[in-house]
Parts: sequence; structure tokens; C-alpha cells
Amino acid sequence: MTNQIYIYNSLSGKKEKFEPVQSPNVGIYVCGPTVYSEVHLGNCRTFISFDIVVRYLKFIGYNVRYVRNITDAGHLENDAEIGEDKIAKKAKIEQLEPMEIVQRYTLDFHKVMSLFNAITPNIEPTATGHIIEQIEMINKILKNGYAYEKNGSVYFDIKKYISEGYKYGELSGRSIDDLISGSRDLDGQNEKNETVDFALWKKASPQHIMKWLSPWGDGFPGWHLECSAMGTKYLGNQMDIHGGGMDLKFPHHECEIAQGYAANKISPVKCWMHGNMLTLNGKRMSKSTGNTLLPEELFNGNNELLEKAYSPMVVRFFMLQAHYRSVLDFSSDALNAAEKGFHKLMEAKNKLDKANYIKTNINEIIDQEIKKLCLDCYKHMNDDFNTPKTIATLFEIVSQINSKLADVSFGMISEDTFLELKKTFNGFIEEVLGIKDVKKGNEAITDGLIDILLEMRDEAKQNKNYALSDKIRDQLINLGIVIKDNKEKTTYTIT
Ligand SMILES: [Zn+2]
Repeated sequence: MTNQIYIYNSLSGKKEKFEPVQSPNVGIYVCGPTVYSEVHLGNCRTFISFDIVVRYLKFIGYNVRYVRNITDAGHLENDAEIGEDKIAKKAKIEQLEPMEIVQRYTLDFHKVMSLFNAITPNIEPTATGHIIEQIEMINKILKNGYAYEKNGSVYFDIKKYISEGYKYGELSGRSIDDLISGSRDLDGQNEKNETVDFALWKKASPQHIMKWLSPWGDGFPGWHLECSAMGTKYLGNQMDIHGGGMDLKFPHHECEIAQGYAANKISPVKCWMHGNMLTLNGKRMSKSTGNTLLPEELFNGNNELLEKAYSPMVVRFFMLQAHYRSVLDFSSDALNAAEKGFHKLMEAKNKLDKANYIKTNINEIIDQEIKKLCLDCYKHMNDDFNTPKTIATLFEIVSQINSKLADVSFGMISEDTFLELKKTFNGFIEEVLGIKDVKKGNEAITDGLIDILLEMRDEAKQNKNYALSDKIRDQLINLGIVIKDNKEKTTYTIT
């Protein structure tokens, strides 16, 4: 691998040389959504950050297996160990089967990810599809002596674990003494030996609907277990990269480390990566204060905090202008600026795409400068996937293209440099950053619209329904056409 990557490992708190267990194969696991409501924008940012990691690894030649799970059981309210399952609770409110909730929000999640042009994981396992693997892992941890059974539940034995020299709390920077003295004894949890112990398997109460048969009776897996069981199944006992939002460091990822060591005697992850959060107009996003934004609202502009609608590609480009470990603040001003930048980048790309190279007098200084800028794109991505610096370099290339290069058919640089420029500039925009031009020229839009009109005619014939279907709305959005619909979705303004 000619490109040596350095990644900030949340566990060591340092940038480390990236050395996969079985190079050129790379295994990466990302904690996916709990599918009980529309995916929120903070999660979208996390998934887009890891989309970039996967894309870049592939771009420089690694053979990547990308696993991102769907949590469809076991995640209880407030991320706690008591309370209702988030999915079962929503199902009760909507009077649906839990799996209807799962299906609805999984489809919604996929739709949003596809609008953001995120690549599909190689495997997208579900917790309910891996109950057997989770039971097997619990048996292994029990056999190795790091867990105990109490009244039909199984708990991880933290005291035993740390007595053997393992650390619990290292990833999130918590001291074990604080964790032991600080954990409250909540109702129903006092059957645990220590309040800091966490559930691997929970006995189901009679009213709990999402439950399975196990050696310990009817119950359900603890939330942290699914990622350990599925990560091990598809990526082996030690995976190269495990990612997620930073809110998952504790307890979720801390418990995954403990489970991995306890079952397989090896650190389950070589490199832990965590994405930072989003703010909106400088404040934390929160449903209760109304300071919140859904991806859908960004695309249709139906939120009073927005001046207008933005195409998913502009939003994606905007997100990449911040490093994944920095807080990103959403505001109309910042989105408007990103939109201008996006179009400027795409115009330069179009110029380069259409250029016919004609050799004239080569200017060595400019030739060297272009070569250096191309190398800089790799240099910045090799440095912990620094997308803002990469984008800044792409804009330096844009300045070069706009100043004189394109006017003289790129003849000021050698043909080799011209080809390298095309490969790097297009490769980084399309493959690494995953940015597509939303306005592919009038011809493409006309073709796209004709297809959509034909489809609308067929839909109308079949359903006697003239409202836009979700599918057609998505196609229009993909063409860069902004659709503002009212709440009843009966009238539309298409711009
Ligand atoms: Zn997880």
C-alpha cells in the first residue's frame, strides 16, 4: 500500500499507523441505527463520516468488508437496562407489530442513506437475526467465568473481569472506582452482584413482547451484545476498525470491549473511531426545545429554522467541510455558503471533464504545483481522513483551473500531469467524497423528467392517484429539483 494512513484511535487517544490484521483486507464495523423512528441528522452525519472512511480505503486499494447493523431488538428506553424496548414501545403507540415498525424505519433509513449517496454496507445484520449467535457468545463468557446467571437473566461480572487485569472504562476515560461507587441501584436491578455489572441476557416480563427462548428461559439479549456477536461472526475475533457516534463510547462500546476479551481473550477491535455531534444554530439539537431538523426537512425546506430547501448532495458536501472529530454546526448561512462552494467545484469539474488537452508551452512552476496539489489530496486523507483539508486542496485546484489552465486547453502542464489531475480531481470528488453533480446539464434533466413523467402516467393509470409517490419524489430530488410539499402532500411547488 503506497498510502500509509494514520487514524486517531479513541482508545489510545493518539493517531496510530493503520496496519490491518490481514492487509489488504480490512474489516470495519459501524453501529447502525435503532429503527424505531426517522433517522436523525446526527446519525446521518456519523454514517456519512464512516462512508468516507470506507470509500477512501477502497479508493487506495484495500479490500474492505463493511458491516453496519440494524438494531431491531434489545435497545431499551434511555439506553438503560430497565424500561421498555424502544421498538416495542413505538409499536404499542401505533398499534402495529414491532416488525412493522422495524420495516418502516429501516426502509426510511435506507432511503435517506441513498439520497446522501452513501454506499451500502457489505453486510447489514440485525439483532433479531442473530439471537443464536448471541446466546452462543453468552455461553462462552459464562464458561470463561466472566458472567453469572440470576433469576433467568445473565450479567457480566465486572469485578471478576478487572481482577484479572482487564480495564473497564478506559475508552470513555472513566475510573472503575467512580463507576462502581457512582452507579445507582435502580428498581429491579438489585439482583445484580454489583450495580456496575451489565446485562448480557434479560429475563422478559410477561408483558414484554419481543422475547426468545434461551437456556435461561424466555428473554432478550442485552443491547451491547449484538454488536459483539455480529462483529465477531463477520469480521473475526479482532476487527480492524469499529466506528460509531461518540455518545456510544459509554456504556455501549466499553461493554463490547469487555465482552470481546471475556469471550475470545483478545481485544476485539484494533482501532476505535468516534464521530462528533451536530449542533443547530450553535445549540444542541433537541426535540423538546424545537431545535431539531430531520433530513427530510432539509430536502423540502419545511422547517422554520431553514431559509430554503437543500439538495442531499449539498448537505453531504457541507458535512464534509468539518472533520469527523469536530462538532459541526448547521445553520442556513453555513448551508448557503456550502451550496455556492458546491456549484463552484462542480463547474470546475465540468470544465476539466470537457477539456481536450492541447500541448503548448509547459510552465514548469504550474506543472509542479498541480502535481503537488494532487499528492496533497492523498496526504490529507491519509492524515485521519481530513476531509476539510482535502476540500481546501480541491479548491486550490479549482483556482488553478479557473485562472488560466482551462483557457489554454491545459497545455501549460504536461500531458501526464493533466491525466493525473483528472484522475485525482474526479476521483476525490466522485469516489472519495461521494459527491455527484445535482445539475447534470439540461439534457440529463430533460431525460430524467421524461422518465418520471412516463412513470407518473403509469402510476396514475394504475392507482387513479395523482399525488406524487415517494419514489417519484426521490427521483425528482435526485435530479436536483427542489420539491416543497404541504403536509397533506396534495400540492407541490417545483422549482
Ligand atoms: Zn453497536
